[in-house]
Amino acid sequence: MILRQLMDRDTATYTYLVADPVSRKAALIDPVLEQVERDLTLVEELGLTLTHVFETHVHADHITGAAMLRRRTGAVVVGSRLGAPCADIHTEHGDVIPVGALQVRVLATPGHTPESQSYLVLDKVFTGDALLVRDNGRTDFQHGDAGVLFDSVQGVLFLLPPDTAVFPGHDMSGICCSTIAEEKRFNAIARTSRDGFVAIMAGLHLEKPARMDLAVPANLQCGHPRPA
Ligand code: FE
Repeated sequence: MILRQLMDRDTATYTYLVADPVSRKAALIDPVLEQVERDLTLVEELGLTLTHVFETHVHADHITGAAMLRRRTGAVVVGSRLGAPCADIHTEHGDVIPVGALQVRVLATPGHTPESQSYLVLDKVFTGDALLVRDNGRTDFQHGDAGVLFDSVQGVLFLLPPDTAVFPGHDMSGICCSTIAEEKRFNAIARTSRDGFVAIMAGLHLEKPARMDLAVPANLQCGHPRPA
């Protein structure tokens, strides 16, 4: 498969371009509105056709490029049935969405938010904010639940083959990616009990993301900001 890891530096968000090298059909996972031109240029440079946009969840820190990409390319937007109503395809755990010959398998991984899902493509998993490198998404807003996140990581992601590559939704570490085996050794979720993890998350007291009040309503419309 063709794979590119792209970053929005303002929000430390990773976007992924994945494509089938034979049909040249491509998908973007978690595109950022401000990076749509960059992403479309790359799609064109690589001779690809964008057919799908996948959202791991309704983001609070940035506005998605999904609606803009849909308008520009005709790509369909894929997200959890528990997430943004604007998606064209609403998925649940176990669904498989073909992108050319690639099979994108949906893994429900709630906890950061209820609708959070990861995408498994061959031996690579795109985890959104469920599992980050040596870290995990916060669970203190958007109906987040630390215990549910613990269960998703331990009961879904950590059951993948150990050499599965982990591609997170954000970069908090300066490390681009990881493996399931690595995270099972070094991630806090692997090194504490469920109750211990819930206590750790409850004690964080993080500030809310700067763009949250703008981003969440916009992302429920796939990135179309509400009229003022
Ligand atoms: Fe998030």
